[in-house]
Amino acid sequence: MSAVQDQVRSMDCKHFINGQYISSFNGRTFDNINPATEEVLGKVSEGGKEEIDLAVGAARRALNGPWKTMTLNDRIAVIRRIGDIILERKDELARLESLDTGKPLWLSSSVDIPRSAFNFHFFADYLRSVGNEAYHTDDVAINYSIRRPVGVVGLINPWNLPLLLLTWKLAPCLAAGNTCVIKPAELTPMTATILGEICREAGVPDGVVNIVNGFGPDSAGSALSEHPDVDAISFTGETETGKIIMKAASRSLKKLSYELGGKNPNIIFADADLDEVIETTLKSSFINQGEVCLCGSRIYVERPVYEQFLHKFTAKAKELVVGDPFDHHSKVGALVGAEHYERVTGYIRLAQEEGGQILIGGKRPEGLERGYFLEPTIITGLNRNCRVVREEIFGPVVTVMPFDEEEEVIAQANDTHYGLSASIWTNDLRRAHRVAGRIEAGIVWVNTWFLRDLRTPFGGMKQSGIGREGGIHSFEFYTELTNVCIKL
Ligand code: NAD
Repeated sequence: MSAVQDQVRSMDCKHFINGQYISSFNGRTFDNINPATEEVLGKVSEGGKEEIDLAVGAARRALNGPWKTMTLNDRIAVIRRIGDIILERKDELARLESLDTGKPLWLSSSVDIPRSAFNFHFFADYLRSVGNEAYHTDDVAINYSIRRPVGVVGLINPWNLPLLLLTWKLAPCLAAGNTCVIKPAELTPMTATILGEICREAGVPDGVVNIVNGFGPDSAGSALSEHPDVDAISFTGETETGKIIMKAASRSLKKLSYELGGKNPNIIFADADLDEVIETTLKSSFINQGEVCLCGSRIYVERPVYEQFLHKFTAKAKELVVGDPFDHHSKVGALVGAEHYERVTGYIRLAQEEGGQILIGGKRPEGLERGYFLEPTIITGLNRNCRVVREEIFGPVVTVMPFDEEEEVIAQANDTHYGLSASIWTNDLRRAHRVAGRIEAGIVWVNTWFLRDLRTPFGGMKQSGIGREGGIHSFEFYTELTNVCIKL
């Protein structure tokens, strides 16, 4: 890390519109808070309708500019170059991501930033192999389809994996030839802001990528989702926000892709390799402070190994060091902000009211007086009707429940309006396939968690999402098809 990058402690975030950084017209800003210290990291320009209008106008004009006429090879080279520059600036970006989110630096350096770069490399390479359908209809006609960009796309992002999830949208959006307006999460605007200059340096023409900072309701988020000249919205965030955006987007019938909340089951059968289970379950419970939509927050353990699992799992969870994101000993950092901290700790209080036992955690670690730090928390003694078992907490909090029968655990796992992901642990091949096929989730892992191949469909069913992203599924969303039928 260079000396300059090492000193990055603060940063102001402006909008990036038509290739330029600009402040809000009315000069309005809000403070960006470091969740580990509660200090101000910098001022963020607060965008609204006027800034969104400007950005959407720039994106609309850019659709028919050099971005449209660029050769496939040149577009691939530009998108690959964005990934390259992210890697060149990896240390600085990782540092900013940790300052903004409170996550440990080792995690931003090893996951968030490299995977953000890989999103561009992957979709640039994938683009070369995307083809079109063609049918020969007897001797009567030939049909073929043309793939074209959807147009101006709004990309609305959450705070938990700020650059990773934003680039997961932006890379295929650009690969498909669209232009966009990005709305970063108000709590974590720093790496998104830097992405503007990275795109410019990589050769993305002005106006193709625009970034407007601000809040959701009555702010940049709602202005973007209501805007009549935005053709599609890709949104990642809470299910309830998704419902509001859907209503706003319905006025101009925008195409929607949704990655929403989850309350994912982690099902452990007695025949599984318990050491392997525990090693991965520690991650699927507490990595990124449990602020990952895919975290397995409902753990079901088959009764013969329930006590043994609890004993080993709590012992290992106690060893996880919670603390300063920049101390390499810290395995768990700070929660993202005051409001979220209140929400998560509120669920811990609720668990006690609902009759649960807090086996470990549930409180601020000793010696950490400032910052939104919370010990990894394991709760038992709750049943499927409890709110703590049913509602998404999105923090380092898991419930553990025993089960006796396969049918019973499938029913419990599916007893939720969410359907994002699930993990199943068993060495019984038939059972693995049988159960995987019956869990109502968009992603089921067997004997693993968070293992991703970007060609595979990613997304949730029920109220965890609409549509799938990844590989061809991303191109399906970010393109429109025209079928051409030629009579022979
Ligand atoms: P959130 O819904 O509060 O905010 C997400 C984004 O939407 C932010 O940029 C916010 O400003 C914006 N927004 C809020 N209200 C809006 C409105 N009325 N109109 C337009 N935009 C609005 O979500 P969050 O708290 O930032 O993120 C946590 C949530 O995201 C959790 O529910 C988590 O499960 C979910 N998530 C899902 C996935 C997935 O892939 N399924 C991935 C990460 C996070």
